[in-house]
Amino acid sequence: MDTLILKGKVVSVKVKDELLSKITDLKSKDITPSLSAIIVGDNPASKLYVSSKAKAFSKLGCYSEVFSLPKDTSKEVLINFISELNENKKFHGILLQLPLPKHLNEKEILKTISPKKDVDGLHPENQGYIMQGDPQFIPCTPFGCLKILDYYDIDIEGKDVVVVGRSNLVGKPIASLLSQNFSYGNATVTLCHTRTKNLESYTQKADIIIAAVGVPNLIKKNMIKEGVHIVDVGINRIDDTTKEKGYRVVGDVDFDDVLGKAASVTPVPGGVGVMTVTMLLSNTVQAAINQN
Ligand code: NAP
Repeated sequence: MDTLILKGKVVSVKVKDELLSKITDLKSKDITPSLSAIIVGDNPASKLYVSSKAKAFSKLGCYSEVFSLPKDTSKEVLINFISELNENKKFHGILLQLPLPKHLNEKEILKTISPKKDVDGLHPENQGYIMQGDPQFIPCTPFGCLKILDYYDIDIEGKDVVVVGRSNLVGKPIASLLSQNFSYGNATVTLCHTRTKNLESYTQKADIIIAAVGVPNLIKKNMIKEGVHIVDVGINRIDDTTKEKGYRVVGDVDFDDVLGKAASVTPVPGGVGVMTVTMLLSNTVQAAINQN
C-alpha cells in the first residue's frame, strides 16, 4: 500500500490563507492581533519554540513580544506579571511557555491567565468547555491534529481511534474532541498510557492512531493494522553522529517502518509541529476578534 504523507505545511498554508482576511479586517480597524509570550529560565528548546512562533506572527503582520524572566522568578512575581498582561489591552493572547522551572507549579500558574487570553487553551475553564463539547480555545497541538485530519478528508465518524498519551496539553483534549458529537468527532476513542496493558492490542485495532507519548519510534509496523491513519505528535531528539548537531528529531512513530502498511502518516519534522504554531496564530486572531 502507498502511504500518504500528511504534510503539515500544506495544511498550514491553507489555514493561514483563511486567517489573512480576518487579519486584514482587524487591521482596517486599527487592531493588530498581538501575543505576549513568557519564558521563565533559559531552556534552549523553549527559546527556539518561542522564536519560531514570533517569526510566524510577524510573517502574517501580527505582533508578538517575548518576555524572558529569570530562572529563579518566584511564583508571586510571575503571577503579578501575568495579571498585568491580563489587563494590558495591547495583547490579545498570553502564552506561557512550558515547562516551567521545577519550583513553579504549572497548573497553579496557568490558572492565573485570563481564559479570554488563554490562546494555548490550557486554562481549566477552557479545558472544561472542551469536555462539555463547547470548545472556546482548543490547545494548539490537538487543534493542529484535527485540521490535518480534516484537510486530508480522513473520516473520523464511527472510527476506532486510539490516542496514546494522556497529557492535558495533547492526549486528553484530543481524545475528548474526537469523541464529541460534532463535525470533527463522533469517533470511539480509547486513551492509552503507561498503565495500559498490552498497548499493541489496542493500536492493532485502531483505524486512526494519535501518538503523543514522547518515546522515540514507539509505534512500529507490528503494532498497527493495514490502512491505519497515523498522526505523530512526538518530537524527540535522538543521538546521530552523522548529523552536524549530533542528533536528529524523530516522532513517537517509527516512520520508515510503518510506510507501506499505514494508509497515511504525518512526518516528524514537517507534520504536527508546523500546525501547532499556525493554530496559535489562529487562536490569537480569534482572541483579537472576541475582544473587539
Ligand atoms: P507528556 O506530558 O510527557 O505525556 C506523555 C504521555 O505519554 C503520558 O500520558 C504517559 O503516560 C504516556 N506514555 C509515556 N510512555 C508511554 C508508553 N511507553 N506507552 C504508553 N503511554 C506512554 O507529553 P506531551 O506534552 O503530551 O508530549 C508528548 C510528545 O509530543 C512529546 O514528544 C512532545 O515533545 C511532543 N509534543 C509535540 C508538539 C508539537 O507541536 N508537535 C506539541 C506538544 C508536545 P502516563 O500519564 O501514564 O505517564
